[in-house]
Amino acid sequence: MSTAVVETLAWLIEYWPDLVEARLPMATRRPQHAGELGEQARAERDVQARLERVERSVLGLGESPAPVDVTVLSTILDVLVRADDLAAELTEPTIAPVLAPPGPGQLDARPYLARARACLLAELHDLDEPGPWYALAEPTVHRMYEQVAKALAMLYTGQVVRVTCPWCHGVTPEHPAGGAHTWRVHELPGGQIAIVCHGACEPPAREVGTWWGGAPCWPISEWPRLAKLVRASEAA
Ligand SMILES: [Zn+2]
Repeated sequence: MSTAVVETLAWLIEYWPDLVEARLPMATRRPQHAGELGEQARAERDVQARLERVERSVLGLGESPAPVDVTVLSTILDVLVRADDLAAELTEPTIAPVLAPPGPGQLDARPYLARARACLLAELHDLDEPGPWYALAEPTVHRMYEQVAKALAMLYTGQVVRVTCPWCHGVTPEHPAGGAHTWRVHELPGGQIAIVCHGACEPPAREVGTWWGGAPCWPISEWPRLAKLVRASEAA
């Protein structure tokens, strides 16, 4: 049974905060302790701060326009509108109340993505195969994925991921004792975005997404799993 659309929606939910915060996943560790601000409040504050920064640059007040920010912001708004529409369309034939549309300054598409996903899962459960709602959602979900992946690629390409590779431990000719940051984000042929390890790296076959120019690499779809492996390795 094909569940690609449901999985893509889960992927979009997972990467949404990274898109909104325009930062490299795994590069800055999320705070372990909530401190004075809860996780939710912190996220809201970050979004607000980011929005204000973007607005300032769009309006040219004091800062030069930042093309990346503007493109990312338009991606965020576009995906938000699509997700809201999709959730409303899929919810209409059910008894669940339609979610309120996003208010001004609200940049969280995740409730709509989650609602769409829940509707599709319910349909899959009922029919035991993808049905008409699944077919209806597919092009929109694919489009949202392409938009978000493209924006993330623009944000991340060329960046060094500030973690130590759990397999080669950052051993390079310049750092024979290890500890170098050997992971870099590349755009592979075909527009695929991936983390590539540039160390003397030979992970076991089951841990590698694919190989590129003799170096192990992990496409963006595998990053959540990769982040878990890094965290487990750092904790060990
Ligand atoms: Zn490595």
